Amino acid sequence: MARFLRVQCKCGNEQNIFSNASSVVKCNACKEPLAHPSGGEAVIHGKIVKELG
Ligand SMILES: [Zn+2]
Repeated sequence: MARFLRVQCKCGNEQNIFSNASSVVKCNACKEPLAHPSGGEAVIHGKIVKELG
């Protein structure tokens, strides 16, 4: 089910990412990719801190 995830990058920045992101999501701080689209659930590269509804 699509939801928002709070993901922490290796640089320490945390941001919310849509679990079904359809494009690459980059960290707002260091520009490292945090999620890649995979047709359904995106592949998350950072650490999932928590799920937001
Ligand atoms: Zn980062």
